Amino acid sequence: MSPALPSYAEAAAIVAAHATKAARRPATERIELERAAGRVLAASLHADRDQPPFPRSTRDGFACRAKEANTHQPLKVAGSIHAGQPPVGPLPPGSAWEIMTGAPVPDGADAVAMIEHVERSGETIRLVPRRTLESGENIVPEAAEARAGEEVLPAGTRLGPQHIAFAAACGYATVEAFCRPRIAILATGDELVAVSAAPGPGQIRNSNAVMLAALVEQAGGEPSILPTAADNDHALDEGLRQAFTVDLVLITGGVSAGKFDLVEPALTRLGARFHFTGVRIQPGKPLVFAELTHSSKTRKIFGLPGNPISSAATFLLFGSRILGALAGNAHAGPRFALAYLAKDVKGKPDLTRFVPSFCDFNPTASDLPEVKTVPSQGSGDLACFSRSNCFVVVPEGTERLKAGSAVRILLI
Ligand code: AMP
Ligand code: MG
Repeated sequence: MSPALPSYAEAAAIVAAHATKAARRPATERIELERAAGRVLAASLHADRDQPPFPRSTRDGFACRAKEANTHQPLKVAGSIHAGQPPVGPLPPGSAWEIMTGAPVPDGADAVAMIEHVERSGETIRLVPRRTLESGENIVPEAAEARAGEEVLPAGTRLGPQHIAFAAACGYATVEAFCRPRIAILATGDELVAVSAAPGPGQIRNSNAVMLAALVEQAGGEPSILPTAADNDHALDEGLRQAFTVDLVLITGGVSAGKFDLVEPALTRLGARFHFTGVRIQPGKPLVFAELTHSSKTRKIFGLPGNPISSAATFLLFGSRILGALAGNAHAGPRFALAYLAKDVKGKPDLTRFVPSFCDFNPTASDLPEVKTVPSQGSGDLACFSRSNCFVVVPEGTERLKAGSAVRILLI
């Protein structure tokens, strides 16, 4: 192992620094809210009115004065209101107003007694014995969630369902989003045939290109798969030339130390500057991170190892960070979580390991996520990978992670 290779943390810091430098304001486009999931906001969104716009009942029950309800004396039912009706009131003293979830609370009422907590008799109700009501109970005051004009979602937010819901509540039928960065994917290897082809002897299907395209989409980029490059200088030069019309280039294969690993020399010929040509991680050690200026535009390039699991892990760990910066996404990059380890996992003295694993995020026996490594034949084992939904992270120098301990996982 070359001591010159950066550790995982060092490589992550190098990539993060480049991501910060590469952060930019991409071109923007207007998108219908219905199609905006996964897009990055180019302009912040503001509340168009107070949220809620009126004091809102959070329960079906009776709006009343808490003090009066707590006497447990009967209160006269003065009226009824359901969601969608304009506000009513004021509430006469000694009375209650029947109210449904989402309806405006009448002036004068300071609490809503849940329907389950009152007894009704004809036109009166009263709080059941032993129940008390606090002022403010079951009411969201006007503007408690957001004030009219207040920024509710900053630019740079990648829109998930929760953001879309808030945007909708504020009346945004369309949003201004950043155009997605275009990411070229160049698979290399004499052994590769198209997914739809029947592989001949010694050949395999090009699974990395579509896998990386899926990862790119998941990270918010627009993938473009280039024709596969054969393992010779001419084919690589040609492939790389085609790649340089986009924002970021992902090459797979051809970066190890083998006789036909020609990517690094090809990048060198084109004048690339290398930030690193390996990282102390497993899988993914031969990862190349470089940049190249072409037609006065500088582009970042990842030379990802050809082994499918190595390719996926290195994209998730490093590629997603740069992609996010190019997408204008303020919180891009690998996503980690904690889970409880089902069985011991061995570490390495000089490498951080990322072990394909399955985490049960919806466990039945206990309420905490439990993670299990998936038996594997190595970083080319797609059957193993397809049974995984994360990687267990074993930091460099760890002898073993113990069963039962909380460990870090990298989500796929
Ligand atoms: P390489 O990094 O080019 O030495 O490739 C390492 C391993 O990954 C070899 O077993 C290749 O056959 C395999 N491999 C390389 N590229 C791909 C690809 N695009 N799809 C699937 N497997 C690949
Ligand atoms: Mg190869």
